[in-house]
Amino acid sequence: MKVLVINCGSSSLKYQLIDSETEKALAVGICERIGQEVSHLKHTPAGGEKIVIETSMKNHEVAIQMVLDALTDANHGVIKSLDEISAVGHRVVHGGEKFASSTIITEEVVNAIEECNDLAPLHNPANLIGIRACANLMKGVPMVAVFDTAFHQTMPPKAYLYGLPHEYYDHYKIRKYGFHGTSHSYVSKQAATFTGLDIENSKIIVCHLGNGASISAVLNGKSIDTSMGFTPLAGLVMGTRSGDIDPSIIDFIAKKENKSIDQIMNLLNKESGVQGMSEVSSDFRDINAAIIEGNQKALIAFDVFVYRVAKYIGGYVAAMNGVDTIAFTAGVGENDSKVRDEVCEYLGYLGITIDKEKNLVRGQEMMLSTPDSKVKVCVMPTNEELAIARETVALL
Ligand code: AMP
Repeated sequence: MKVLVINCGSSSLKYQLIDSETEKALAVGICERIGQEVSHLKHTPAGGEKIVIETSMKNHEVAIQMVLDALTDANHGVIKSLDEISAVGHRVVHGGEKFASSTIITEEVVNAIEECNDLAPLHNPANLIGIRACANLMKGVPMVAVFDTAFHQTMPPKAYLYGLPHEYYDHYKIRKYGFHGTSHSYVSKQAATFTGLDIENSKIIVCHLGNGASISAVLNGKSIDTSMGFTPLAGLVMGTRSGDIDPSIIDFIAKKENKSIDQIMNLLNKESGVQGMSEVSSDFRDINAAIIEGNQKALIAFDVFVYRVAKYIGGYVAAMNGVDTIAFTAGVGENDSKVRDEVCEYLGYLGITIDKEKNLVRGQEMMLSTPDSKVKVCVMPTNEELAIARETVALL
C-alpha cells in the first residue's frame, strides 16, 4: 500500500509517498515559505529530476493540495489518482503523557493533541494544521499520528522527574519527555538486527547527532532515558542550541544585559551551541574546515560537542549497567567520522576499538567496531519517514 507521510512545520511541509511493500519512497518533497508571498514546492519523483514550482501558498491546505497535484501530475507525478493513497502518517512532535504509541487519528485524538499544544507551542499547532488540511482534502483516507515523544514514555519516574517541587509535575506535567523518539525507536531496532542482538535482551545507546541532537538508552527495546528534556533544548550541545546549562545563567544574563526571558530563550535555542561557541557555523562541515584552518573557537566548539556526547554515553552505560551496541545516526552521526572517532576515543575504558578505515564511511550502515571490541559500534542511517509509514501500516 502507498502511505503519504507528512511532517508539517509552521511554514514548511515535508512529504514522502512510500510504498510499504518495497519500503521505498516513490516521491519526496517539501513546501517552503507557506503563508509568505512567494512559496515554493520542491518535488522529486524516485529516479527523476527535482522540479521546483514557485507560487503563493497562502496556507497549509493550499500546500497540501499542491503536493497532491504534484503526486498525480501527468509528467512528474508517481500515481494516477489519489485513490492509490491508502493512508496518511503524520509526524506529531508532542504527545505529552497521553500518547505512549502511535494512534489512528479521530476527532478525539485531534482534541487530545491540541491539549498538548502548551508543551510544544511552536510545533503541535502546525502539526494539527497539517492533519486538518489532509482531513479536508482526502476525505475518508485513514490517518495516523506518530509522536516524537511516544517512544520515551517508557522512561521510569527516576529518569523523567526533575528536582523540582512535585506540584509542578502535578499541575503542569513538567517532566522530561524526550524527542526524536521515532528515530531512536527505528535506529535501535535496526542496530539490534545489524549487530546480531535480540532486541528483547539488549542494551543499546543511540546517538542521534543532527542539527538537533539527542542520545537515548534503550534497554530491551524500551527507552529508559534520553538527553532531551521537557523541551528539545536540553542535553547535548547542538547546532544552535545550548543543551544543558546551569539555569542560573538565565537570571544572570537577564540582569547583566536587561534581556527578557523570551530573548534569552531565543539566544539559547538559536544563537548558542556549536554556532554560538565557534562563531563560525552550526554546520559540522564548516566547523571541520575552520579547524583545518586553525580556528581555535571552532576547535573548542567541536571538543565541547564531543565531550558532552561521551559523557552522556558514559551516563547511560551506568543507567543500563552495561552496553552491547552504540549506534551513530542523523546528519553528523552518519557523516562525520572525526566526531565518531573522537567520541570512541573516550570510550576505550569500555573495551571499545574501532576500525579507522571503516569509520571513514558516510551515510550508510557500517560496523565500526573491530571484531575484538567489547561493545559493537555502528553507523545506522535513520529514516523517520519510513518509520512513520511502518507505524501507519501496522495500525491499519
Ligand atoms: P540533520 O539535522 O540530521 O539533518 O543533520 C544536519 C547536520 O548534519 C548539518 O548541520 C551538519 O552539521 C551535519 N552534516 C551533514 N553532512 C555532513 C558531512 N558530510 N560531514 C559532517 N557533517 C555533516
